[in-house]
Amino acid sequence: MPETPQYTFEYRNVKHPRCEFKTGSLLIVLPKKGWTPQQVLEKYGAWIKRKQATINTAVQQTNGTALVKDRTDKELRTLVQKHAEAAQKDLNTKINKIYYRKMTTKWASHSQNNNLTINTQLKHLPETLISYIIYHETAHSIERKHNENFWALIKRKHPDFQAKEKSLLTYWFLIQKQATVP
Ligand SMILES: [Zn+2]
Repeated sequence: MPETPQYTFEYRNVKHPRCEFKTGSLLIVLPKKGWTPQQVLEKYGAWIKRKQATINTAVQQTNGTALVKDRTDKELRTLVQKHAEAAQKDLNTKINKIYYRKMTTKWASHSQNNNLTINTQLKHLPETLISYIIYHETAHSIERKHNENFWALIKRKHPDFQAKEKSLLTYWFLIQKQATVP
């Protein structure tokens, strides 16, 4: 019996395929130029499977993971401030402003005006992951793309960034899971 796909496809005008986690399920964004779904599956099937496996593991690990429940918004801001200062010093760069907003698609973002927007859901994460997210976004003030240069900057401070990215995925699904509980 065929398995129900746990992901949806969307074609966009992008160069490379990528994943988004809009509602806790996987959305696969694919380059639209001249691709039929069949060709896409032939070329990206293995990649999709790997992504799916990563997600399945993250979802499974939500069972052994707990959200931080007792951190206030004010305490989050103090922590973010502290780590933003450290990251700017480490990377020898400058961030303009930090904004806070509840977001449903990402932990944080860096804008062209060199501002950071922090998802207030960060308050549910352990400090080590908050530190990683802030460092990651601050590094985007030097390198906007996720290229080799970018990951080299990240590795200097967070050599275990891959494990941290996986852990963030687990927390992401955990927040989704709890959001559906009244
Ligand atoms: Zn990034």
